[in-house]
Amino acid sequence: MARYTGAVCRLCRRENKKLFLKGERCYTDKCAVTRRASVPGQHGKARKKISEYGIQLRAKQQAKRYYGVLESQFEKYFDMAERQSGMTGENLLRICESRLDNVVYRLGFAASRKEARQLVRHNHFTVNGKKANIPSILLKSGDLVAVASKSGKLKEVVEAMSARPVVKWLDCDKTKMTGRVIELPHREDIDLDVEEHLIVELYSK
Ligand code: SF4
Repeated sequence: MARYTGAVCRLCRRENKKLFLKGERCYTDKCAVTRRASVPGQHGKARKKISEYGIQLRAKQQAKRYYGVLESQFEKYFDMAERQSGMTGENLLRICESRLDNVVYRLGFAASRKEARQLVRHNHFTVNGKKANIPSILLKSGDLVAVASKSGKLKEVVEAMSARPVVKWLDCDKTKMTGRVIELPHREDIDLDVEEHLIVELYSK
């Protein structure tokens, strides 16, 4: 499966925004956005007027990078979001949030979405009691995610569990190492600082 393998802090610097791609480091003074706010590259410090298209493009890139989703997959999610009732932009973010790797991260079983993706691929989680090793599985209300019995003592999981509070649309039982989707999130439950209507405008051209 294709994925971005370059330096992830560079992506945050490009967006001039913390995208929280590196786990605990993102919350410290070592964060590259905190230390060097300029856009990477030779002309990064030069201020350029950004077009309407550029603003829309940046919004889309930020969302994609935040969830670690590549273009083709993101376009697929947009098509799904358009077919659902309600606001397309909100639907799009909700679909991204419902990915298994995101839910594992949100439950606090991994320090970042990237780590969550790797743990899922390595069979460290089950969904509704069945093996689940595809990070892009979309979960729905009532689904139960659990750390596989052989993986409960895994260093990455144990360390991540003590670190962050769990979002309110998920119910986490840290003793049993399980988490249930209470309901899929509404826009106000999603902390991504992006104007999703810009993404809709971009794809609607
Ligand atoms: Fe982004 Fe985290 Fe790197 Fe900061 S430390 S630039 S938030 S990935």
